[in-house]
Amino acid sequence: MARDIPTLLHDIFGFTAFRGVQEQVVGRVMAGRPTLAIMPTGAGKSLCYQLPAAALDGCCIVVSPLIALMHDQLRAANAVGLRAASLTSVDADWRETQDRLRSGDLDLLYVAPERASQESFRNLLRSAKIALFAIDEAHCVSEWGHDFRPDYRLLRPLLDEFPQVPRLALTATADAHTRADILVQLGIPEDGLIISGFDRPNIRYAVHPREGLTRQLADLLAQHPGPGVVYAQTRAATEKLAETLGRGGRAVRAYHAGMDPATRAANQAAFIASEDMVMVATVAFGMGIDKPDVRFVAHAGLPKSIEGYYQESGRAGRDGEPAVAHLFWGAEDFARARLRIAELEPARQQGERARIAALGALVETATCRRAILLRHFGESPPPTCGNCDNCLSPPASVDATETARKYLSAVYRTGQSFGAGHIEAVLTAAANDKVRERGHDRISVHGIVSGEEMALLRPVQRALLVRDALETTEHGGLMLGPNARPILRGEEEVRILMPPKRERRGRRNARNGADANPVGNPLFDALRTCRRELAQDQGVPPYVVFHDSTLREMAEQRPANIRELSHISGIGQKKLDAYGDAFLAAIRPFL
Ligand SMILES: [Zn+2]
Repeated sequence: MARDIPTLLHDIFGFTAFRGVQEQVVGRVMAGRPTLAIMPTGAGKSLCYQLPAAALDGCCIVVSPLIALMHDQLRAANAVGLRAASLTSVDADWRETQDRLRSGDLDLLYVAPERASQESFRNLLRSAKIALFAIDEAHCVSEWGHDFRPDYRLLRPLLDEFPQVPRLALTATADAHTRADILVQLGIPEDGLIISGFDRPNIRYAVHPREGLTRQLADLLAQHPGPGVVYAQTRAATEKLAETLGRGGRAVRAYHAGMDPATRAANQAAFIASEDMVMVATVAFGMGIDKPDVRFVAHAGLPKSIEGYYQESGRAGRDGEPAVAHLFWGAEDFARARLRIAELEPARQQGERARIAALGALVETATCRRAILLRHFGESPPPTCGNCDNCLSPPASVDATETARKYLSAVYRTGQSFGAGHIEAVLTAAANDKVRERGHDRISVHGIVSGEEMALLRPVQRALLVRDALETTEHGGLMLGPNARPILRGEEEVRILMPPKRERRGRRNARNGADANPVGNPLFDALRTCRRELAQDQGVPPYVVFHDSTLREMAEQRPANIRELSHISGIGQKKLDAYGDAFLAAIRPFL
């Protein structure tokens, strides 16, 4: 007999209402209907199976691809009072777990696909009561997806052996191809597809050219006191940046696949437990880590694709609180990416060019960044979002077509082998021996740029590289790219963005990542201290005790007793019992 869903939603999770498509998904699962839910990170995916698992008789089997991810979810499930366990190669208690499953003492059992598809596991399930199959990260079942895992293909026979048990597939990113494939592979009818939009409204997007990266990052760190991730492009760069940024006094660590495993694991654990640490890492970091309170994600260079950028920047603000995604790019990122294309087999080159062009459109636009991201995923967003750099302070754009033509001519007339410094020296008639030695002081483009136009040369060069009108040679020189011709002929306009002058951001009404962490507010700080002590006692990260949003609501409402505390969002019965008195004691001096 299913228990009352709204009551369970409040008693276990402390919520009075569902968010977004959660209600629809839970409704289908409770009705026993197979479902594929596409929900962006932060939309509350796991609640969609945890709640039915609590309501239904029997155990929910959760298939998940990464042990680290399973253990994070296990910890969060146990913290709200769900009976959860995992069966993985690193769990020593698997005999006890099997007994608990057979005796009906588990709401949730997490397993990897390799185990789930084994005959011995099917035998185990035959001896227990199964309420639901939840297949997390379901895009792994599809060769179209970005993380294909062949073992996911072996799940279908298991699901089919228990036809009366509902199946729920979940993923955060899947394009149309991948969605269709998941439905077929897991035997879910088309009407079982529920798509929540890709938008992450709490993430503020900002994109800037790199101009003194270390200072730009240091400024970002200074503005955002909460946990953050900086993605660097190479292993060496992660360590160097971590060292430099750490000199500012903030706790900063590095993470990459080449580190010794013990240090790497220690750094990751420290980051998960921390409320203010910055991790400088390669993009491998974050996969399978469910730290909900990351307040900013910065990219020190161009990501590989829009999909990659959406996924990596999406590691910010999983708790739904304000967060920032900041991308720093350089023209050389585009040049390098295009050089790599030449090494690929011809069949893949066109796709890669399109990928880079899409990134070019994102960094060069004067319009809404979010709209560009969402349109990439097939959505039709409004033209402005009010929460990206371009919507908040629209950049001026300047017609630089003439300067661009001069630049391209200079590259052509000097033989397409010199770097930007030489081209600028020729165009501006800078006194320069190399220019004279090469006879470049006698060509028609010598000295044709002067005065204010000189300031346009660098942005023009950047814009031409981004749109593939300029390419770099193996030796770092510049040559004309495939898109140079229409510009030289005057058929195509080149507009460049003049970024708004750096300004001190107004604190008032600024919904930025700092707001989620009102550090300095004495009551909020007292609540954080209380949370930190409870988390340390129990050996869990602070967010497993309560999310920042719950602490903030406590600071605003100042509940004086258990009954008032129970009305705060995010406090279910188990947490009320476990932590209620401690938090009331922390609030009391402020009443
Ligand atoms: Zn916008």
